[in-house]
Amino acid sequence: MARRPMMAANWKMNKTVREAEEYTAALLPRAADADEVDVAVFVPFTCLHEVARMAEDSAVIAGAQNFYYEDSGAYTGEISAPMLLDVGTGVVIVGHSERRETFGETDDTVARKTKRAVEAGLLPIVCVGETKEERDSGGMWEKVSGQVGRVIEELEDVDGESLVFAYEPIWAIGTGDTATPEDAQDAIGKIRDLLKEKAGEDFAGTVRILYGGSVKPENAAEIMAQRDIDGGLVGGASLEVESFVELIEAAQNAVTQSE
Ligand code: PEP
Repeated sequence: MARRPMMAANWKMNKTVREAEEYTAALLPRAADADEVDVAVFVPFTCLHEVARMAEDSAVIAGAQNFYYEDSGAYTGEISAPMLLDVGTGVVIVGHSERRETFGETDDTVARKTKRAVEAGLLPIVCVGETKEERDSGGMWEKVSGQVGRVIEELEDVDGESLVFAYEPIWAIGTGDTATPEDAQDAIGKIRDLLKEKAGEDFAGTVRILYGGSVKPENAAEIMAQRDIDGGLVGGASLEVESFVELIEAAQNAVTQSE
C-alpha cells in the first residue's frame, strides 16, 4: 500500500517572526518541486499565523509544536485546537520527547491530545521513543509499545490517515547519533505490526510512521529507502532551508526509486 511520505521540520524554540518569514519565502518555491512529498514546518506559536498565511495555497503545511486538549478556559499559557485551526494550521506535533521529558507529559496526556486533535480535524504527529538507558537495558520495546498502545486505546473508529506516528529514539535527538537505517526500520516495522494487531490491517497499512533523530542530508537517503519508514521529523538539519530542501529531495527520490 503506497503511503505518501512526509518531511517535517521541527524548529523547536528557534526563529523570530522575521527569520521565519525569510525561511518560508525561500522554502515555498523549492518545496513546490517535491510533488510526491508532504512538506511540513512545525514552528513556534509566535510565528505560526504568519507562516500559515504565507504557506496558504502552497505545498507547505504550517504546523504547531504542541497544543492542549481543552478548547478554552483557565489554562494559562496553553493553546487549543480551535485556536490552531483559526490561524490556518492543520497539523500539530503531540508528545515530542522534549515535552514528555522536560514538561512532564505522560502517555495519558499524549493520548488525550491525540484524540482531541483528530476530533478537531487536526493531523497529529504523535512522537514515541525510548531513552538510552531503556535501550541499553533491553526495555526499548516495552516503552515504545506502551506509548503506541495507549494512543490507540484512546481512539475509536479512526482510519490510518487521521494521524501520523514518529519514532524518535531520545538518544538520537539532537545528538548526531542517528539510529542505523536497519535499527530504525526494525523499530518502525515492529510499531506497524503492533498497529496491525491493535487497529487492523487497513489502519496499519495506511498510517504513516516517520523516523526522527539526527536525520541529515548525509544519512537521509538510506533512512528514507527503508520499507516501513514514511519520512522524517527533523530538528537541527531543518533550521537552514538548504539542508531541509536536501532532505525533501531525499524523500522525493526514495519515491521515484521505488516506482
Ligand atoms: C526532533 O526535534 O524531533 C529531532 C529529531 O531533532 P534532531 O533532528 O535535531 O535530532
